[in-house]
Amino acid sequence: MTTSFDGPRYESEPDPAEQGIGKKQITNGYYARCWICATAFARLTYTARYCAVCERGFCEGVHGNFSRNRGTCVVCGARKADKAK
Ligand SMILES: [Zn+2]
Ligand SMILES: [Zn+2]
Repeated sequence: MTTSFDGPRYESEPDPAEQGIGKKQITNGYYARCWICATAFARLTYTARYCAVCERGFCEGVHGNFSRNRGTCVVCGARKADKAK
């Protein structure tokens, strides 16, 4: 099986849903994968943003937002909104 994807890659891809993995990859100079795309849609989406709460990668504008120098994925954003109510 071959893929046409030619972006940055790990030799063995860690699970993008693993807590802290996005931050680790991005601070090491790699792209992370959006954990929501991977978990919910089995889609490979590379991103340079990670969530400040769960520290997993998310694709900006679709599965999270970046504001005030801080990224939050939609899952953590929803949790925070629930608590605030
Ligand atoms: Zn996504
Ligand atoms: Zn999050």
